[in-house]
Amino acid sequence: MKALVKRERERGLWLEDVPMPEYGINDVLIRVDRTGICGTDVHIYAWDSWAQKTIPVPMVVGHEFVGEIVEVGANVVDFHPGDVVSGEGHVVCGRCRNCMAGRRHLCADTKGIGVNRPGAFAEYIALPMTNVWHHDHAIDRDIAAIFDPYGNAVHTALTFPILGEDVLITGAGPIGCMAAAVVRHAGARHVVVTDVNPWRLELATKLGATRTVDVRSEKLRDVQRELGMREGFDVGLEMSGNASAFRDMISQMGHGGKIAMLGIPAEEIAIDWNTVVFNMLTLKGIYGREMYDTWYKMTVMLQSGLNLSSIITHRFDYHEFEQGFDVMMSGRSGKVILNWNV
Ligand code: NAD
Ligand code: ZN
Repeated sequence: MKALVKRERERGLWLEDVPMPEYGINDVLIRVDRTGICGTDVHIYAWDSWAQKTIPVPMVVGHEFVGEIVEVGANVVDFHPGDVVSGEGHVVCGRCRNCMAGRRHLCADTKGIGVNRPGAFAEYIALPMTNVWHHDHAIDRDIAAIFDPYGNAVHTALTFPILGEDVLITGAGPIGCMAAAVVRHAGARHVVVTDVNPWRLELATKLGATRTVDVRSEKLRDVQRELGMREGFDVGLEMSGNASAFRDMISQMGHGGKIAMLGIPAEEIAIDWNTVVFNMLTLKGIYGREMYDTWYKMTVMLQSGLNLSSIITHRFDYHEFEQGFDVMMSGRSGKVILNWNV
């Protein structure tokens, strides 16, 4: 089968013929239909320092996908050939304290598909049945392909109560934009989204930001005044990984404000801890998706009218993957889909 492989320890990906994945009695074999390119895939493509210390070579990469089941292992009774599914990209151990308690997103021994085990940028992928999410047929295939990052957005956005709250989102990347849509759907009042990229801020407006802020030319404090907000933001969603965005957020929260942090900083960040203490802020790190409460809510929000369609800005066939990565790196894209059904 065809797959995109990290073959050499250098920049790039290689489209190659690789053996079909083997699958065991508890696994399903999925024919991949569409995939999404993630920032993680861009790190692997660019072969930055994180990728160099994390990715064993060769490796089939990619983890955002939708496909159809073609075979199931002997123990699998509730999935069938023809089912439209995505895969949770974190394969957990099932035996640690958190897994045993049903908190699988907190597993201390997680393996990532397309990172530590063969990924989804391929014609077929095999996964344990415990990692498979069955899609409602009414859900658009392109949106089904990006349930993984949509799940990051939902997990972060719904970590703290949102109804009637004023929300600050730093970073209008694909995940920040989807989070804006989610918090609007969940009943937030002001949804202020910051970035330093005007193209991305426009995308955030399409997804439901009520006010966008280019922090190079505007101050959040002035925006709060304009909106008539007296006491600061209630909830902050950090989705840039940028140090100054995070510091800005801390300074603009109301007393008792709650911050969910998804963005991954490239290095240590110093913050004003006095503000955290005296303003009694809550900071919570967010990783992945809750298995499977986040997935359940993702489906239900789409069924109840959440519209994410404008987050998908580009579509390519898989052999045009170079163009897909170029557009991801240009900063002028939302989600980029690669079609494997050609
Ligand atoms: P992205 O890189 O596409 O988006 C980040 C955005 O932040 C960009 O649009 C960038 O212009 C903007 N930005 C840069 N400096 C800024 C500043 N000073 N103020 C405001 N915005 C600024 O990333 P994404 O795919 O949308 O993901 C968002 C973040 O979440 C990334 O840091 C990513 O690494 C991280 N992530 C974390 C998890 C997890 O499980 N914790 C999973 C996926 C992604
Ligand atoms: Zn575990």
